[in-house]
Amino acid sequence: MGSNLDVVLDRDPHELEFHQAVGEVLDSIEPVLERNPHYRHAKIVERIVEPERVIMFRVPWVDDQGQTHVNRGFRIEMNSALGPYKGGLRFHPSVNLSILKFLAFEQTFKNALTTLPLGAGKGGSDFDPKGKTDVEVMRFCQSFMAELFRHIGHNTDVPAGDIGVGGREIGFLFGMYKKLKNEFTGVLTGKSLNWGGSLIRPEATGYGAVYFANEMLKTRDDSIEGKTCLVSGSGNVAQFATEKLLELGGKVVTLSDSGGYIFDEAGINEEKLKFVKILKNYKRGRISEYIEKYPEAVYTPADGRDAHNPLWDHNADCAFPCATENEINDIDAQNLINNGVYLVSEGANMPTTQAGVDIFLENKLLYGPGKAANAGGVAVSGLEMSQNSMRVKWTREEVDAQLKRIMTNIHSTCLAFSEEYHVPGNYVVGANIAGFVKVAEAMIDQGVV
Ligand code: NDP
Repeated sequence: MGSNLDVVLDRDPHELEFHQAVGEVLDSIEPVLERNPHYRHAKIVERIVEPERVIMFRVPWVDDQGQTHVNRGFRIEMNSALGPYKGGLRFHPSVNLSILKFLAFEQTFKNALTTLPLGAGKGGSDFDPKGKTDVEVMRFCQSFMAELFRHIGHNTDVPAGDIGVGGREIGFLFGMYKKLKNEFTGVLTGKSLNWGGSLIRPEATGYGAVYFANEMLKTRDDSIEGKTCLVSGSGNVAQFATEKLLELGGKVVTLSDSGGYIFDEAGINEEKLKFVKILKNYKRGRISEYIEKYPEAVYTPADGRDAHNPLWDHNADCAFPCATENEINDIDAQNLINNGVYLVSEGANMPTTQAGVDIFLENKLLYGPGKAANAGGVAVSGLEMSQNSMRVKWTREEVDAQLKRIMTNIHSTCLAFSEEYHVPGNYVVGANIAGFVKVAEAMIDQGVV
């Protein structure tokens, strides 16, 4: 195992997030390699850590003042063993190759777990949509797509949204693709409902993370009902995780953005959540504005020098990190446990550091890693692709039932693999092995390509 990770470390020494994601998977799959020497012979690990293709390009655009800006665009086409490359686009100043490669690598296993015919990819730009006008965002998206369109297609590579890429951006990207290619296909998912989008796609990641949590709780004859929950983020995933938690009788007391977090001891009810949705999705405001409307809540600004995140230091039963990577470190993990949290379901990708994960596992928390718990988003993207190909539209109830079925199935698959490999209840090992075996078998079938 060490030697495979060493190759990755040596090849790309600065890609720390990518090393973290690869290291965790390689640790888990060691016993699978022992049992299956033909995987070693076929160099599956060496191949799976290397993207099939990395595309980097210049994205020049002009702001409302007539100033020219140059951002960097990326698409990582990671693995196509199971289907067309599939994974979101992220627009955030922190975007670089390491972050996108970690996300694309995670996506490989996540997409395999959905059981849908989806390969893996990820992309984006270091462009920051925050503070930009709609027209500036449109110009940027058009310039981004003016290069990306050559590399994607509904049978080749089907991007979706991620941080900073929501319905507005998908619309502008789709419009430009359609103009350049002169074809209307399901080349992107997360489209608007009236031009090819799927019902439940916006809700899918957040709802799915809660369905996964509920499945974990069922193993202890428990449910979300009456549970106090900490949620981070206030974007797409956080909003719909909160919505589903409320629907199932949970109480959500926190939300955050990169500026800080709010703690509302009385609970964020439906009315308050509606306020947050309008604030974030239409006014594009800051979560700090919540306390202007609901002064009984407390806002704590983020302090970059703090060694831990105070959001995770409140009494609760369950935690749903839904903002970004590495937002829970070992101190936060210990704080969660000290405050009574016994379930963590990750809406975000890799929100917990390796040291934090180790603490969760040692303490036998019900811990659903992102690649299993947040797979609902890409699963419904897969369902959007099916509906586009068939030119049909399924009802909300049909899609939600399929999402629930897929999340239940991912949960039982992870559990079964954790038992088969003698670490029952370890969803990290279960998810990594289940995803890896599926992709590895397909790669073996398809030869050395
Ligand atoms: P959004 O852009 O809708 O929301 C992101 C939220 O996280 C915002 O509240 C944002 O605050 C906050 N955030 C982003 N970066 C940071 C940071 N560096 N520090 C603190 N807060 C931060 O994105 P999504 O909700 O779509 O994505 C959230 C997470 O879920 C990501 O990890 C993403 O990869 C993952 N995910 C998303 C899926 C989807 O379907 N959308 C599918 C699977 C996983 P601010 O507004 O201040 O930037």
